[in-house]
Amino acid sequence: KTSSSPEIPAHVSHSPPRDAANSVKVVVRVRPVNRREREGVRIVHKDSSASLSVEGQTFHFDSVLGPDSSQEDVFMSVGVPLVESSLAGFNATVLSYGQTGSGKTYTMWGPPSAMLDGRSINSYQGLVPRIFQTLFSEIQKKQESSEQKQVNYQCRCSFLEIYNEQINDLLDPTQRNLQIQGDPRAGFHVENLTDEYVTTIEDVTHILVKGLSNRKVGATSVNSKSSRSHIVFTCILESWCKGSSSIFSSSKSSRISLVDLAGIDMDTVDGVGKHCLKEAKHIKQSLSKLGKVVTLLATVSQPGKDQNIPYKDSCLTHLLQDTLGGNAKVTFICAISPNDRHKAGTLSTLRFGERARLVQNKALINEI
Ligand code: ADP
Repeated sequence: KTSSSPEIPAHVSHSPPRDAANSVKVVVRVRPVNRREREGVRIVHKDSSASLSVEGQTFHFDSVLGPDSSQEDVFMSVGVPLVESSLAGFNATVLSYGQTGSGKTYTMWGPPSAMLDGRSINSYQGLVPRIFQTLFSEIQKKQESSEQKQVNYQCRCSFLEIYNEQINDLLDPTQRNLQIQGDPRAGFHVENLTDEYVTTIEDVTHILVKGLSNRKVGATSVNSKSSRSHIVFTCILESWCKGSSSIFSSSKSSRISLVDLAGIDMDTVDGVGKHCLKEAKHIKQSLSKLGKVVTLLATVSQPGKDQNIPYKDSCLTHLLQDTLGGNAKVTFICAISPNDRHKAGTLSTLRFGERARLVQNKALINEI
């Protein structure tokens, strides 16, 4: 039997108590039923602002956003703290996790037509465009305020996908099979990945639209354009004080990473030929390695001290090494369908989310 997302091994019996300030945050978003599912049975029930139940099993998270939640609700819960953290100099990462058709793409980016409307916020716009609209408007406010007039900000962005265990540049499709360089102390980077400087929300929108149009998608029965790759949009935000006598005393650098993980679609695994099977196998394997890293990290009492976490087992975990258990503020958005047809994937996603909440990060300020 093929699971719609990897099972978390049940061998971990003693998890350390949760330190909320430095733990990975998990927000669950339940998408509304679609037309085809109206006749189906709704098995997911929101019990409170932070818990839900599925057929009598209760799950606890940092926040649960029900089927009637808006894109604005997601932004208030995840985007506002992220913008605040990155302006304060923390690295921040958001990852969307869930089976195909559960609402990851809708939540992260919004429908393409909504994203193209870069400057004004419209109700369909996803989390990522909202984050950058707010980030740029906060920077502008800071620069206009008298005490921060002297602060310079610089932003550069990159966009990659991990497809069949290969890293491809979404901003330059000729750059394929790129290698990860660096180490846990110095941080990781992808060699030869395009880096573009951005100064306005239009610049970011241009990059997002270009990158997303280069993403590998495949046709499946759940969703006609299902994502077949993990994608990572990264922005490095640097700030420094013009008038300072020492540039080192006043400089900050923070990294915003926005990760949309591919999901498994059981129908694809069963039905659609060898090409899709290979893709599905790679997605399943890399999500399973992510599950393993998260499970092991959930038992580590001192973040960063455990040398035996198998980060290098997959491109995804290798790239996330300085994020998971590292010095970033991390939020998972676990996307689920309320329908009984998707029960196996929903339960698997919720179990992953509960485990991810136990991972502690260092969340250190990142001064250069
Ligand atoms: P995934 O990226 O997880 O495969 P999508 O984001 O593409 O899933 O969502 C699947 C379908 O459900 C899409 O047609 C999308 O527009 C719709 N959808 C998902 N979440 C919502 C939501 N919160 N409100 C309205 N429609 C949604």
